[in-house]
Amino acid sequence: MKRADPRRALPSVDAILRAGHPSDAERARFTRTARLVLARARAARASGDAATFAAETRAALSERERLTLRSVINATGVVLQTNLGRAPLSPRALAAIAAAAGAVSVEYDLVAGKRGERHGHAARLLADLASAEDAVVVNNNAAAVLLALAALASRKEVIVARGELVEIGGGFRIPDVLRRSGAKLVEVGTTNRTYARDYAGAINEKTGAILRVHASNFKITGFVARAEGRELAALAREHNVAFIHDLGSGTFLDTSRFGLGKELTVGEAIREGADVVTFSGDKLLGGPQAGIAVGDAERIAALRSHPLMRALRPDKLTIAALLATLATYRDGTAEKELPVWRMIAASPREIAARARSLAAALTAAGIPAASIEVRSTVGGGSLPEETQPSSAVAIGGAPATRLAQALRSADPPVIARIVEEQVALDLRSVLPEDDEVLARAIIGALAKGGADGPSRNQNGPRARTRRSV
Ligand SMILES: *Cc1c(COP(=O)(O)O)cnc(C)c1O
Repeated sequence: MKRADPRRALPSVDAILRAGHPSDAERARFTRTARLVLARARAARASGDAATFAAETRAALSERERLTLRSVINATGVVLQTNLGRAPLSPRALAAIAAAAGAVSVEYDLVAGKRGERHGHAARLLADLASAEDAVVVNNNAAAVLLALAALASRKEVIVARGELVEIGGGFRIPDVLRRSGAKLVEVGTTNRTYARDYAGAINEKTGAILRVHASNFKITGFVARAEGRELAALAREHNVAFIHDLGSGTFLDTSRFGLGKELTVGEAIREGADVVTFSGDKLLGGPQAGIAVGDAERIAALRSHPLMRALRPDKLTIAALLATLATYRDGTAEKELPVWRMIAASPREIAARARSLAAALTAAGIPAASIEVRSTVGGGSLPEETQPSSAVAIGGAPATRLAQALRSADPPVIARIVEEQVALDLRSVLPEDDEVLARAIIGALAKGGADGPSRNQNGPRARTRRSV
């Protein structure tokens, strides 16, 4: 027996368009989406009238166009959360971006009235802050490392300790970058112990550079040894090869002042004798995504004039935000102005007081909440295994995964952490001026969360839970 062709039951694209009334601006993509919806229905042997398919098309279209890049509240307790955009910018940097958005003298010399140098703006400030001769800025630190290797060691050998052949994350592996730069990797030492004599034994006429890479996201402890930066610098100078130090995070402030371990500062790396020091703009520096190379004038000039430079150069908004960020270090106000340092410098007592007051506000709104003590981290490839005392607000009343999901759909979305199977909002990574927005976002999300929202436990007005989508 022959069944009726189910395709007969499907409306035409034209009929769906007539039922859906797309505007002129959305007509083309509505049509494309309608075809996709029809194809899906055909494959599933589904049927329906034009109005049903128009509604389905409309829903599919809004799902496609849902805003995915949104401002969120980072309550993870990880100050530099790579997935959440690392360093939040300071008001000064934001103002600088707005000011640079129009016509701006990015490559124009206002005194001479002719073409100027894109790289000059931040270079002087960076060189001063690092006590280095010169500096250059690119898109990110991965680009800075690539550029330094390509400019100083292409077709030459680069010596790296086995314990420093690391993967930073997001697939950034030092051996791969080295290969892409056109340099040849020469590994020395062992995973746990490498001495200056290992490097010395590997140097020959084909050597272009010695590369030191900061262990950003792991710690090797126990029976370990590594060559001093000074020894590597002396060795490099003696054989006239470059000593490149990839610091990763790169800081101008001493992290040990905040109860954290000591990270080598950019200035200290230069004083050790590195020819080129590279670091990120959006890690501990607290600025925009950028890669910075500071160092010896001749070496930096080689980076600047390399053909790759054009492909790696930063845009005017980045330069503006970076300049504004660097100015806070020059003025001695970085700790007060840059969100990253404000978060790191926040005292545990101050955070605890904020957590108690947030917990009280939530409890008053019918959400079971309590302040708890936690440990926060800096993250973003700096200070591995180091933690700071912090406080969080733990929320109960529903399963943690469900609560975390409800918070992600808050307005603005709130990204929480899970501590001992409880959803917790760690306030170290939240600025105090955002506490009120955070409280309102949580109350909004959990009060409308429906049957599984904790508000039901208290006063649970059905009318309120019906507000869910
Ligand atoms: C983070 C990091 C990088 C990559 O820096 P991006 O700015 O993310 O490109 C490179 N090297 C080290 C050691 C790092 O920690």
